[in-house]
Amino acid sequence: MVKETDVFIIGGGPAGLAAAIAARQRGFSVVVADGTRPPIDKPCGEGLMPDGRAALENLGITIPAENSHPFRGICFVSEGVSVNASFPQGSGLGVRRTVLHRIMIERAEAAGVTLLWHSPVTGLLPEGVLLGGQLVRSRWVVGADGGHSLVRKWAGLDSYTSNRSRFAFRRHYRLAPWNDCMELHWGPRCQLYITPVAEDEVCVALISRDPHLRLDAALSAFPEITARLRGAQPTSPERGAISVTRTLRRVYRGRVALIGDASGAVDAITGEGLCLAFRQAVVLAESFSRSNLEHYQQAHRKLARRPALMAQLMLALDWKSSLRRQVMRAFASDPRLFSRMLAMHVGALSPANLVADGLALGWRALTA
Ligand SMILES: Cc1cc2nc3c(=O)[nH]c(=O)nc-3n(C[C@H](O)[C@H](O)[C@H](O)COP(=O)(O)OP(=O)(O)OC[C@H]3O[C@@H](n4cnc5c(N)ncnc54)[C@H](O)[C@@H]3O)c2cc1C
Repeated sequence: MVKETDVFIIGGGPAGLAAAIAARQRGFSVVVADGTRPPIDKPCGEGLMPDGRAALENLGITIPAENSHPFRGICFVSEGVSVNASFPQGSGLGVRRTVLHRIMIERAEAAGVTLLWHSPVTGLLPEGVLLGGQLVRSRWVVGADGGHSLVRKWAGLDSYTSNRSRFAFRRHYRLAPWNDCMELHWGPRCQLYITPVAEDEVCVALISRDPHLRLDAALSAFPEITARLRGAQPTSPERGAISVTRTLRRVYRGRVALIGDASGAVDAITGEGLCLAFRQAVVLAESFSRSNLEHYQQAHRKLARRPALMAQLMLALDWKSSLRRQVMRAFASDPRLFSRMLAMHVGALSPANLVADGLALGWRALTA
């Protein structure tokens, strides 16, 4: 039984493992405890944008080609109009959550992280955490326990703003990807994502504002996708999750810091949740080295800005179908606009460009 560590991380999902690897890279002793056993699956679009891949490589992790599938860009499809653009640099990667989890565990183990599975943490104490009824002393405690974080509550960090929840369901199919882009199909009150995750497998994820809408019912609004999936064998059961944009007032108190979905979240529509967590991990470890979690607070806020802005823009297209129609027409008539939006999305163009591009887009939307 571990009695003492520099950093104790509650939650061994992608954010917790990233935080563990980054802290080990700075020489801290690290323990991760998770209530479940690996490999941990989770409903997800399973797309890593190029910036997410780079953030993962920063932690010393490269996903092997045989365990994933690359995509060169993003394709939007809405009411018969289709636009696509390549990422300005590099490619995205579709990877099953179970595969990502296994690879991150291997990296954490190689880095010397102590991993405790089937080990739920039941409380915080002034000196550390409560694990199996025993105190484990820790200089720093990290809450990486996901969107429904208890650590957030225990630490008194549960003050946040959030938008209306959306409801997501995903299933995998044994089928060769038909597009070299990740596809986002806009439908009536919902979106479908198609991510290639292997040379013979795709992930289909639905997100909507209707808690009762399931994949099979939603697919009827997407005849092209239905035709492609006809006869393809499902390789996973349908699983659901909540998608929400949540902004916390503070992400640390005393020795306790939050990371990943526990520390706030951007709507799943951005595909940026994992990238954010990987980046937060690096600045959190740096803040431990400086013994200054206020540094983490500031950096965390800065990191969240661009994905939050992109989420707002994309959710506006979900809410207003007339706006989406105009924007899609504008993108179709000037594909450079969509390329620039995508470049902004992955951080290759600054949001300052948004003003100029927003004006150009507005003009196109009016005249297309
Ligand atoms: C529908 C959907 C699609 C998405 N698509 C994408 C995408 O395409 N690309 C992308 O980058 N992001 C995507 N995201 C976001 C991404 O899934 C999340 O940001 C990511 O899973 C957050 O990881 P996490 O480690 O913070 O939380 P989680 O993955 O939820 O992990 C939390 C862990 O904490 C453990 N835990 C909880 N309580 C305790 C406790 N008391 N003690 C010990 N352990 C505990 C849990 O067992 C779990 O393993 C999507 C999200 C949704 C909902």
